[in-house]
Amino acid sequence: MSEPDRSHGRKSIRASLKPRALDGESPDLAGVWRADVITLFPDVFPGVLGASLTGKGLKDGKWQLHTHDLRPYGEGKHRNVDDTPAGGGAGMVMRADVLGRAISEVLRHRPPCPIIYMSPRGKPLTQTRTQVLADGPGPVILCGRFEGIDQRVIDHFKIEEVSIGDYVLSGGELAAQVMLDAAVRLIPGVLGNEISTENESFSNGLLEHPHYTRPPVWEDLKIPAVLMSGHHGKVAEWQKQQSEALTQERRPDLWEAFGD
Ligand code: SAM
Repeated sequence: MSEPDRSHGRKSIRASLKPRALDGESPDLAGVWRADVITLFPDVFPGVLGASLTGKGLKDGKWQLHTHDLRPYGEGKHRNVDDTPAGGGAGMVMRADVLGRAISEVLRHRPPCPIIYMSPRGKPLTQTRTQVLADGPGPVILCGRFEGIDQRVIDHFKIEEVSIGDYVLSGGELAAQVMLDAAVRLIPGVLGNEISTENESFSNGLLEHPHYTRPPVWEDLKIPAVLMSGHHGKVAEWQKQQSEALTQERRPDLWEAFGD
């Protein structure tokens, strides 16, 4: 007599710890911009990327996302991925051997592509970097947790570190979604033809001008008369002036670079 099934539909621990076959669950869409994300929290993807136009682009195969659970690559019975820092100190560091196995496995399925570690120590993400990312084959992204990752992984795989700002997040997952959102919306066809990214903030080195829509008066506040004039030349001149004034006031760094 066979043993009664007491799993209640749950996967066995061993099955759930098996590295997910990359070309099994989500087949590669050949030639389509691809992001591979290595994370301890694969369930938080696609997250916000699954909404609106980036989500539609994902469904329609305009770009592809493959998330890889780091846990099955861990050490020992408990699949440990972190350990105490060499030299002492607080917190834990993600292990080089564990990360190395995961990265090597993911790279087996990728032609040469950028490998990016989301990191507050990285170069700040810019629109220019984002455009280069969108123009390429798509990155492999490493999401850190704890105190971060063993430096040898960064050195060995020649990983680029990218920061989304001068503050510290609990993990790289949000940062990865920020970077991916910024890149994916630049892939042709993702936003649709009706939305232009050409005149957006940063694309020409300036912040964008303010926007208005109906109703023409709200809380006694009117839409600037020039925008209601129907005079395209004057509207364009007003938008340019606003854009320059805003940049000068809020981002003297951008304004200085714009003048060079
Ligand atoms: N000990 C690190 C430091 O002081 O630079 C911070 C580690 S943080 C708590 C954990 C992870 O969050 C990092 O490994 C990184 O992947 C991610 N992270 C935190 N802040 C980030 C930022 N500003 N940009 C990109 N990733 C960030």
